[in-house]
Amino acid sequence: MLHTSYIEISKSAYKNNLKFIKSQVGEKTVISSVVKGNAYGHGIENIVSIAEEAGIRHFSTFSTDEAVRVQKATKKNSQIMIMGMVDNASLSWIIDSGISFYVFEFDRLEAALAVSKKLNKRAKIHVEVETGFHRTGFEWEEKETLKKFLLENKAHFEWCGLCTHYAGAESIGNHVRVQNQIKFYRKYKDWFSENGIRFQCYHTACSAASFSYPETIMDMVRIGIAQYGFWPSQETYMYKFKQLAPHMKNPLRRLISWKSTIMSLKKVKIGDFIGYGNSFMASRNMTIALVPVGYSHGFSRNLSNLGKVLIHGKILPVVGTVTMNTISVDISDLKDPKKGDEVVIIGKQKRNEITVASFGESTQQVNYELLTRLPNDIPRKIVQ
Ligand SMILES: *Cc1c(COP(=O)(O)O)cnc(C)c1O
Repeated sequence: MLHTSYIEISKSAYKNNLKFIKSQVGEKTVISSVVKGNAYGHGIENIVSIAEEAGIRHFSTFSTDEAVRVQKATKKNSQIMIMGMVDNASLSWIIDSGISFYVFEFDRLEAALAVSKKLNKRAKIHVEVETGFHRTGFEWEEKETLKKFLLENKAHFEWCGLCTHYAGAESIGNHVRVQNQIKFYRKYKDWFSENGIRFQCYHTACSAASFSYPETIMDMVRIGIAQYGFWPSQETYMYKFKQLAPHMKNPLRRLISWKSTIMSLKKVKIGDFIGYGNSFMASRNMTIALVPVGYSHGFSRNLSNLGKVLIHGKILPVVGTVTMNTISVDISDLKDPKKGDEVVIIGKQKRNEITVASFGESTQQVNYELLTRLPNDIPRKIVQ
């Protein structure tokens, strides 16, 4: 093995998740697969391939570099939508490639207009409106100027979408704020319609909104975390739980597994300290396995003396501090452990499982952050 660990991405889990998401949003709603953050750590190329095989034909990225990767990876000529950063200098490539993008500033609209004229090709835009998230989006006060601009330059744009994003649909604490956003979005939608501007596609919902606020499911939903097999939050799952059929209480399956092997074994005597400093002293004669995964690989230093891994199907503790490239695991209770034995950091082994969530809970990181922090250079391979 050239690398010290590897990540497996399960195709069948993806298909399973997509089936569940479809059951929630309806067959007619387009599902855009959100692949920002290197597809939440799974690898853009892997997810494009798996998702297209499962029938997805629309992908959302945050930035242009990610759109370039999706475009190279697509085998089905799927549509690509950039939701965030677009440098005006990249607009030529974007418009020429038929990639759609969010607009939330006049500066970007003006730049897009100039490029569209130059290329003699319509720019595909999604108008993002400010409904209360306060990140990006045109303000209500800007609507007249926006309308004028859109109508005057009708020949140069395709009005692909009208969109917004909710400020935390995964938590009941934000209920009022989200409800207000839903109302505000409708107001924009009606206003534009009354003023002769109809968009091809209305879209507002992420995973949490799709699950908890069905009224936000419109022509398209932008699904990130759920397609990877995670609930946006514990609350979203609890809210859904009662509605799930008894045999379907766990409808989402994790795609990712992260595995390594035992690099070497060591006997230590009662009273010996393990690793740097004195954070762990052996309370008995012990056998320790060294595993070649450390904080440089995304195994957080906060998991020192807290993390767990699976070896021979048993849940075993990380002892001592996590170093840059290794962890020490107490394997005293294993029968006949050997160098090269499989170590599961995230995933299943025999009857036990370590989920990203349990891994995350012990360090207060949410799924989203932990996944996207998995370094790009750990090899990912697609498995059934
Ligand atoms: C990240 C993102 C999504 C997807 O969110 P999930 O919670 O992962 O489903 C949807 N829309 C926008 C604008 C986003 O930035």
